[in-house]
Amino acid sequence: MGQTCTHLDQIKADARPSSEGCEDCLRTGGRWVHLRMCRTCGHVGCCDSSPNTHATAHFHTTDHPLISSYEPGEDWTWCYKDDTGFRVDGLKDFSHP
Ligand SMILES: [Zn+2]
Ligand SMILES: [Zn+2]
Ligand SMILES: [Zn+2]
Repeated sequence: MGQTCTHLDQIKADARPSSEGCEDCLRTGGRWVHLRMCRTCGHVGCCDSSPNTHATAHFHTTDHPLISSYEPGEDWTWCYKDDTGFRVDGLKDFSHP
């Protein structure tokens, strides 16, 4: 995958996962399929295969463009603005065990 993202300065090295699960689903009793973590503020939300797509909703409300998978063994990052996925060398891996 080519790395053409120009938003890498949005990554905050000290962002930590906000929750063990999708924080919005946990609040509303929703269910998720996969989890994504915002690289700017640490918001944990659910993926686009989930009924409530909170990770994408977070992007639309905050304009934070970069998420990473929060799934075991996955270390990719996705940019909503560039609509592209890639890996960022040296980025801390928060995927839960
Ligand atoms: Zn980008
Ligand atoms: Zn959710
Ligand atoms: Zn965020």
